[in-house]
Amino acid sequence: MCDQHAVSLTRRRLLATGLAGAFVGGLALPAAALQSGSPAAQNTISPDDALKRLLEGNARYASNSSQNRDYSAGRVARSSAQYPIAGLVSCADARVAPELAFDQGPGDLFVVRVAGNFVNGDGLASLEYGVKFLGMPLIVVLGHSNCGAVAATIKVLKDGIALPGHLPQLVAAIKPAIDRAEKAKASDALAEATLQNIRYNVRKLEKAGPIIADFVAKGKVKVVGGLYDIATGRVSLV
Ligand SMILES: [Zn+2]
Repeated sequence: MCDQHAVSLTRRRLLATGLAGAFVGGLALPAAALQSGSPAAQNTISPDDALKRLLEGNARYASNSSQNRDYSAGRVARSSAQYPIAGLVSCADARVAPELAFDQGPGDLFVVRVAGNFVNGDGLASLEYGVKFLGMPLIVVLGHSNCGAVAATIKVLKDGIALPGHLPQLVAAIKPAIDRAEKAKASDALAEATLQNIRYNVRKLEKAGPIIADFVAKGKVKVVGGLYDIATGRVSLV
């Protein structure tokens, strides 16, 4: 082994140890302590106040009166910490852009995106981090009109289509909502399945122990469902 390689390995090991130590140490620390040298926390607000800020932002966006933002302002302060006011579970759909739809800036939203806006293990872990260590008081499961992932799942299950690649994973994750929508026998199967998918994932998060369920039970975090209408830009709570 050459000297340079040995130095490189040692450095890597030190970095890894340091990071692991910081993470383990961080687990015992409250959110504020974990983020030292940080700007004032903007998210020490109630879940209802956070929701109000989002809905007011959406009203601005839908009426085409979004705030003009100076994105360079606060950039240096943001480099040391983040205090998102809400976590989002959003569809990956290119027409749904949470920061735009809620007229929020960098550092305001902690966004988990996946086609079909469902919560899987990785998404849940991300949201647990946001709740426990970043102090976000609100989670919004954001579905939207004409969701291709939900529509495709309805068709695949109805026609017994075998999808290629990893796409069956999306179908399996969205299927519980389709099953619930079928029982409701609604005239608009896609709209009903979209609603059921949002509500199913809201309930899943509310019951997700040991972290999020505990924060919800104590009233420190609220989980709500939202439906984004692509045609109007409006979000309604569902
Ligand atoms: Zn979608």
